[in-house]
Amino acid sequence: MKTVDLRSDTVTQPTPAMREAMMRAPLGDDVFGDDPTVNALQERIAAMLGKEAALFVPTGTQGNLIATMTHCQRGDEYIVGQFAHTYRWEGGGAAVLGSVQPQPLEHQGDGSLALKDIEAAIKPDDAHFARSRLLCLENTIGGKVLPMVYMAQAAELVRRRGLATHLDGARLFNASVKLGVPARDIAKHFDSVSVCFSKGLGAPVGSALVGPRDFIKQAHRARKMLGGGMRQAGVLAAAALHALEHHIDRLADDHALAQRLADGLQGITGVTVEPPQTNMVFVDVAGEKAQTLLPHLKSCGVLATGLYRLRFVTHLDVDAAGIDHAIRSFRDHFNA
Ligand SMILES: *Cc1c(COP(=O)(O)O)cnc(C)c1O
Repeated sequence: MKTVDLRSDTVTQPTPAMREAMMRAPLGDDVFGDDPTVNALQERIAAMLGKEAALFVPTGTQGNLIATMTHCQRGDEYIVGQFAHTYRWEGGGAAVLGSVQPQPLEHQGDGSLALKDIEAAIKPDDAHFARSRLLCLENTIGGKVLPMVYMAQAAELVRRRGLATHLDGARLFNASVKLGVPARDIAKHFDSVSVCFSKGLGAPVGSALVGPRDFIKQAHRARKMLGGGMRQAGVLAAAALHALEHHIDRLADDHALAQRLADGLQGITGVTVEPPQTNMVFVDVAGEKAQTLLPHLKSCGVLATGLYRLRFVTHLDVDAAGIDHAIRSFRDHFNA
């Protein structure tokens, strides 16, 4: 049986139709603005997210860093969740490369940052403090969807205090499909948004940053400075365009498979399964069997990650048979 790789939704291979689209794409040198496929992708994603302009970038990490460096200057700070990707998983880039100080906050159970915590973290205009300049939220966060009302309230609160807003929407389309609302209805609360094509959408590489035209113009300079100016990048943009066309609605299948996995793992003593909202299943295992679980799964051809908690992610390259094999392999370990 082929490996059931549930480490991340980044592990997908481009489908034959996606490879075909990549082969056919008209190309040019995007540093000269000459790549028609990159230009088409940028127009498409900007329109889909209801923003004036977009920039194709190699990674979500770079998109978030560019956004932070464009919203903030040296000595500014951004408010962010303790477990947010931009804070915890991007090598501290905002501080290292942007001279932008993070102000991390604890998350609530639903992944949000409490409005009162955000408000309390905004510093007064005083020479002692870094200038609070930006709120960065993430949706989905740890597979959870931030409520629409919450995003509106958080954005309104910080805007009133003169801060800008950025959404790390690496999995924005998972949130959109789950909520049954167009992605632009989520994006509208934020000045800028980054999205990944290389996660559940199944493209091999690439992300986009969207926002107002003058913001994207400045972001373009930061992308060049960070080494993100790519040449015949249309070969990659074609995969992203194909994904936007064919791989959004099917995210619901990934969500259903995550639910199938969670259901299959219910009722094992010492195992707690968090009910999944999108394509991630988080599992806590008590006792000595926790240490040997991942190696056991691996020996059965099932891959997962366990840095903080066990995490299983569904995607384009797993099916119900693979999930059922993962469930059986997991239950075997507990003789359950
Ligand atoms: C994957 C991810 C990113 C960007 O990751 P890259 O690997 O740099 O593309 C950003 N934010 C979140 C929430 C992510 O999951």
